[in-house]
Formats: sequence, C-alpha cells, structure tokens
Amino acid sequence: RADELGASAAAVLAGPESAAAELRAHGAAKIYFMENPELAAYSAQGYAAALAEVVKTTAPAAVFFAATALGKDLAPRLAARLGAAMASDCALLTMALKSRPALATLRPNVFPVTASAGDGEVVKIAPVLPEGLVRGRVDEILCETGGELDVAEAEIIVSGGRGLKAPESFALLRELAAILPKAAVGASRAAVDAGWIGHGHQVGQTGKTVSPNLYMAFGVSGAIQHLAGMSSSKVIVAVNKDPEAPIFKVADYGIVGDLFQIIPALKDELRKALQG
Ligand code: FAD
Repeated sequence: RADELGASAAAVLAGPESAAAELRAHGAAKIYFMENPELAAYSAQGYAAALAEVVKTTAPAAVFFAATALGKDLAPRLAARLGAAMASDCALLTMALKSRPALATLRPNVFPVTASAGDGEVVKIAPVLPEGLVRGRVDEILCETGGELDVAEAEIIVSGGRGLKAPESFALLRELAAILPKAAVGASRAAVDAGWIGHGHQVGQTGKTVSPNLYMAFGVSGAIQHLAGMSSSKVIVAVNKDPEAPIFKVADYGIVGDLFQIIPALKDELRKALQG
C-alpha cells in the first residue's frame, strides 16, 4: 500500500473519463486522464508512447499493470522505452528492482481490493503521439458467447479435475453452479488438457488466479500448480476419494468420498436451503 510507504497512489486513465469515479473509490489520490482521441481504442505503440510521457512528467517510483493480456502487452514496451526494470506476473515472490521507476504486472485477484472514500483529483494530460506511430489498433472486442460467468469474476467456483473421469461430468458441476449465486465452473489443467472443458476455465499457475468467497474442488488432487491459483479463496471445500490428497491440506472443509454420490446429495441440500 502506497500510504504505508509514505507515498500516494495515482492512476492513469485512457478513457472514458467517467471511469475516474471508480479509480477514486479505490484509493487513487490523483487520476491522470490522457486526453487524445487516438487513445480511445487500445494500441500498443500509442499507449506505450503516451504512458512514457505521463511517467516522465510525474516521475513515479513504480508503475503497476494488471497481468492481463493488455497489461502483459503494454508493460514490457513501456519498460523498454524507459530503460526500466520490470517484474512480470507478480503473485507471491518478494524481489527488489533497482530502476526508478520500477515496473510490475500484478496477477489479478492476488491482491485484495480495498475501497476508500477518496476525493482524488483528475489531472488532464494531452500526450502528443508522433504521426504514423500507431500501426495497429483494436477496432472491436468480441466476448465469448454463452453467458457463463468467468471464474475470475465469480464469488463461488465449483471446480472439477481428472476425478470427473469424462467431459459429460462437467454437466454435474454446471447444474451445481446454476443453483448457487454468482457461481462459475472451474477446472484443473488435467481436465482442460483432456479436452473436457475450455482453457478459460483453468485455475492455477498457467490458468487464472481466483479468490472467491467459496471454492469447491471435486476430484482435484491439489497439485502445487493448482493451489497457486486458488489457495487465497476465502473458504475451500474439497471432495476427494483419497484421504491423503494434498487438496485437504488447504481445505477448510473436506469430504472423503465419491464425487458422483456427493454432488447429487449436495445439489438436493443446496436447492432446499437456497430455493426453499
Ligand atoms: P489428478 O492429480 O489426477 O487428481 C485427480 C484426483 O481425483 C485424485 O486426487 C483422485 O483421488 C480424485 N478422484 C478420482 N476419482 C474420484 C471420485 N470418483 N470422487 C472423488 N475424487 C476422485 N494444474 C492446474 O490445475 N492448473 C494449472 O494452472 C497448472 N499449471 C501447471 C504448470 C506447469 C508448468 C506444470 C508442470 C503443471 C501444471 N499443472 C497445473 C498440472 C498439475 O501439476 C497437475 O498435474 C494437475 O493439477 C492435476 O489435475 P487433477 O488434480 O485434476 O488430476
């Protein structure tokens, strides 16, 4: 936290300006709003050049990005422009960067979000982009259809691993998720690699990092790479027929048993409890 270091946090906004309210509500003491119509749509070259100008004007100690597709594209370009050191995909490791500014991309959902009743001021900056600099531009962003909630956004995740034994068994998890509010279906890499469910559902080191209120793991052994993506969940429930499965070491509640018997019983009880 910036205040613990005697510093303050500022945010850079490329638009729309109305998003400033949300940044303010999460602790930005200043919001640098980059005013330039060429920045309305994301382009790696344009954003890196504009941000380099903001950094030179404001001289921050560190610049943070979310380790999303955009952040991972943009941060290294800015680091190269500034000749600054950068740490990628930060989650748990402690490391020191000697450059100023230091750049880092942070894994979404690893660090808790805190609300603040901030009154952050909007400072307008109009970065000038050299003609012909922007060679590629995002024209449209298409969302995957299907209406399924993303695991990174869900408050409850019901996750399945190799113990589900077949792709059809994910229907059981989808039914369970449908009973629960704001629930999504997650998966281990073994289930994704087997082609039982799409990679967008994968939780773990090479999948998504999640920290929902409730994470339920069915037939997931709890390999270290899976735990890396979900161990900060508030409450973890594990169902596994092997009492020695490592997932039980991080679970708040463990059920040793066959998931194919437990899921239907859970569904019945949850329906009664939640739907009356
Ligand atoms: P398994 O380890 O095979 O476990 C299946 C579990 O199901 C077992 O514990 C078994 O007891 C239980 N089971 C079987 N039948 C039943 C039943 N009927 N009822 C109840 N329980 C049952 N993994 C990830 O998940 N996410 C990642 O992002 C990820 N990234 C990786 C990155 C690298 C570089 C590497 C090397 C590996 C990565 N892995 C990742 C893979 C990881 O090491 C494991 O191989 C994987 O998580 C195992 O998936 P699983 O738990 O579904 O399968």
